[in-house]
Amino acid sequence: MSQIAAHLEETRARIAQAEHAAHRPAGCVTLLAVSKTFPAQAVRDAYAAGQRAFGENYVQEALGKITELADLRDALEWHFIGPLQSNKTRQVAEHFDWVHSVDRLKIAQRLSEQRPPGLPPLNICLQVNISGEASKSGVSPDTALEVAHAVAALPRLRLRGLMSIPESADTLDQQRAPHRALHALYETLRADGLALDTLSAGMSSDLEAAVLEGATMVRIGTAIFGARTYAHS
Ligand SMILES: *Cc1c(COP(=O)(O)O)cnc(C)c1O
Repeated sequence: MSQIAAHLEETRARIAQAEHAAHRPAGCVTLLAVSKTFPAQAVRDAYAAGQRAFGENYVQEALGKITELADLRDALEWHFIGPLQSNKTRQVAEHFDWVHSVDRLKIAQRLSEQRPPGLPPLNICLQVNISGEASKSGVSPDTALEVAHAVAALPRLRLRGLMSIPESADTLDQQRAPHRALHALYETLRADGLALDTLSAGMSSDLEAAVLEGATMVRIGTAIFGARTYAHS
């Protein structure tokens, strides 16, 4: 078994255990494997071990991998999860299946206009700055409802839910607090008529906290592919 296959198995076991601890149905949480900084071969290894959804942060790097893995394109789901500038929206609209990092209406409008008509609607999560950190992107919780309704009305997009990257914390209780707040916001939006089904929350260090607080998708890089050895700007 490859190391990636072994790490995937461990990660799936962590998710299963967290689902059980949370009294949630087995298999209700989707694993998104975050392959940023790792080569196409790592994605191929994960695919061979049954993984289908992959997350990328950097447009150029991701397009290189998507091209290299063109033979698997129909089998894979590509999720863009990194900061997205206006001048990169076209490439994302043309090549990805999901975008988790929509943090303003203007980006959503561009993605909608640029999504090719031959492709299914682009799945969208609105990124929320749930911990209120000045350095983090994301809409503020008090504007999320208004922005979500505006995004949901755009024609070539399908608003699926919310995403956040909470402030890092050491204890499980500290980790749970922002995930709980995100879940509450998600329920508020659903109660206001938005048909959301995705709460994208939890990374390698806090996936248990996220699953306990209702995450439906966790974004896991390090625990699957190992430590990242180079940083992008
Ligand atoms: C890199 C990244 C992840 C994965 O983080 P790990 O700690 O390596 O699991 C998840 N979400 C986003 C938005 C990221 O940028």
